[in-house]
Amino acid sequence: MTLLASFAVGALVLAGCSSSSDDEQPASSAPTPVATPDGPGLADAVTEAAVVGHLEQLERIAIDNNGNRAAGTSGYDASVDYVVDELESAGFEVETPEFEFDQFTADTQSLSAPDRQFQVNALTYSPSTPGDGLTGRVVPAPKDDSPGCEATDYTGLDLAGAVVVVDRGVCPFGQKQTVAADLGAAAVLVVNNEPGPLDSGTLGGADVARIPSGGVSQEDGPAVAAAPELTLTLDTETTTTKSRNVIAQTKTGNAENVVVAGAHLDSVPEGPGINDNGSGTAAVLETALRMGSEPDVTNAVRFTFWGAEELGLVGSTKYVEGLSETDKANIALYLNFDMIGSHNAGYLAYDGDDSDKVGEPAGPPGSDAIERVFVQRLQQEGIAAEGTDFDGRSDYGPFIEVGIPAGGVFSGADETKTPEQATKWGGTADETFDQNYHTAEDTLANVDRAALAENASAVAYGIGTYAQSVEGQDGVPVGAARTEARSGE
Ligand SMILES: [Zn+2]
Repeated sequence: MTLLASFAVGALVLAGCSSSSDDEQPASSAPTPVATPDGPGLADAVTEAAVVGHLEQLERIAIDNNGNRAAGTSGYDASVDYVVDELESAGFEVETPEFEFDQFTADTQSLSAPDRQFQVNALTYSPSTPGDGLTGRVVPAPKDDSPGCEATDYTGLDLAGAVVVVDRGVCPFGQKQTVAADLGAAAVLVVNNEPGPLDSGTLGGADVARIPSGGVSQEDGPAVAAAPELTLTLDTETTTTKSRNVIAQTKTGNAENVVVAGAHLDSVPEGPGINDNGSGTAAVLETALRMGSEPDVTNAVRFTFWGAEELGLVGSTKYVEGLSETDKANIALYLNFDMIGSHNAGYLAYDGDDSDKVGEPAGPPGSDAIERVFVQRLQQEGIAAEGTDFDGRSDYGPFIEVGIPAGGVFSGADETKTPEQATKWGGTADETFDQNYHTAEDTLANVDRAALAENASAVAYGIGTYAQSVEGQDGVPVGAARTEARSGE
């Protein structure tokens, strides 16, 4: 252990020297794999110094590339190169499958009746109106159990050239738009069914988008529907972007019980993304380097680094969509790490069993065991972890959707730390876990080193534990039990 630790520090110093002297630098040679890559062995081997070393490199990449590492930018490409070089230096065969996706931006968004203005938000993928707007008489969709979801909802109404105003609910926005477009409507406005603006609606895809579509607040709904005519102006753009995931699997271990461990590699355009999600990236990467490409393990481990997470879990979604039924059946579980060194850190594990009874329900069978493994690991370290809602807001979402059990640790984002949590874990009560979330201040200087070190070891512990066994008390469904557990998906 002492030997391994001093080796890591030595490698770090070398990397530091070369980074200050030159712009192009070779990846540092990978650290020696641990002899026994089980949970405790790996947890000890993944050190704070090594993880911070990766974060220094990712921060340098952001600084050299306009301050960010967002999908579709040179900063992202450089991040991919860094992770690939590190993995290859440890003997991994690395794939960087490319995927395509549509990116949507809206500039002008306005809505006016003859006597007043309303706030409107373009539904994602909405086409633009003509530059000076689109004016039409208003046809409110009759109120029923599924407003505007079927053509029969508009029986007896003339939608030709009209601006249709329909309540949110029951069917997707894209379907409401398609029904109205089929009947000749010029535009559609969806009224929120809860207080506040409807500002994150989507038509679901560029292929679905046909007529300009926007969302208005529940408060404005009645006045919008009562207007004699409306002028809608939307200036939007949908562009096709490419990005890449990074995938590398151990050459050893059972490939029919694969342990997949992942972190998203992209940042938001607003900042360098060192906690979100350099931290998860660094921990998964260092675990891969310490495990090595040919570890003595029972189950194969697949290390994954996702692109375009910040644009809607795009990389992980494309990846899961591209898996064959056999590929999916061969994945035992998925471990996700997204933000593990938050400035005002919490110690949270995804609530796989829904014991907290908050938000979304429990994950697929086995998610409860994964939660237990991480909670127990932190407990051994003297930390009383809590659950965090299994809401699918990170790359485990697409995996649990197809029935693959998932879990991981998380140090919090824009949620507020309670006084009880501050007493238990330190930090500041009544402030968010990460005040730098999605800003230019998401830098290494603002990472909580103690949380980073503790959680990075927990990452390694979880991966090592399941690499040795996915069965037993803290196991996940295997063989026929897996088939049975996922049969409903
Ligand atoms: Zn993230």
